[in-house]
Amino acid sequence: MGLNRRTFLKVVAAAGAAGVAGSSGLLLREDARRRQAAAAERHLSPLPEITETGLVRPPGALPDRQFRSNCSGCGACLNVCHTMGYDAIAMAGPRHGLQGATPYIKDMRDFPCTLCMECPSQCPTGALQPVEKPEVKMGIALIDLKLCFGWNGDVCLSCSKACPLGASVFDFYYGAWGNQPYINEKCVGCGLCVKYCPLGGSAVKVVTTEVYAGLKDEYLAEVEQTLHVSGEERYEMVYGHNLPEIMARGRLVEREYR
Ligand code: SF4
Ligand code: SF4
Repeated sequence: MGLNRRTFLKVVAAAGAAGVAGSSGLLLREDARRRQAAAAERHLSPLPEITETGLVRPPGALPDRQFRSNCSGCGACLNVCHTMGYDAIAMAGPRHGLQGATPYIKDMRDFPCTLCMECPSQCPTGALQPVEKPEVKMGIALIDLKLCFGWNGDVCLSCSKACPLGASVFDFYYGAWGNQPYINEKCVGCGLCVKYCPLGGSAVKVVTTEVYAGLKDEYLAEVEQTLHVSGEERYEMVYGHNLPEIMARGRLVEREYR
């Protein structure tokens, strides 16, 4: 049976519409894919690039310039920390330039400060001042959103359990992607969270307040953006981009900073 003209036109129109719908569907999918990739790129955390944390000083340290002029390099703080069994303090060497021969906290993945607060009481020059624990300001811990399990669809919370200041320092964003931890500016920078993060190489880094001042806007924008990506974008971000690096970091044994 042949097609009459009206039926033929209907068929042509329907085929055309299906074609347009098919190609526009493809275009839409391609567009969505491109948007997801762009979003994932946009939301990759800048923190893995941070190799300079600054020299984190023992608790109670005066502002850096004053600290350097007051500290005699006697090593009393280092000695008491060693005697206490924490061994968190090292003496900066010639490679640290003007900061040479002054004490700093070592790699926090192995040697965080436990805030026992013995070192300020031993300092004979006042370079380290006695201070209440919550008022300590050695630096601030920043969670790498790209690496942290909590920000990538898993539940962990090891950092918050390790923190001696606990609830006052941690905020949590609850959502489909688990309990995403956020460390606020009440953090004193002791580094216990750095040590107890189960990710090899740690998804938390303590930076000095000076380094943080330079990063703060970018970091907060990153948190804000990451919280508001759609489920689709988030999926692409985690499984298309972050997961390989998380797994690679899990195997990382090399000490890449300081
Ligand atoms: S407060 Fe205690 S653990 Fe922290 S650096 Fe001083 S002596 Fe070491
Ligand atoms: S005890 Fe005081 S003066 Fe001595 S090295 Fe430590 S900070 Fe410097």
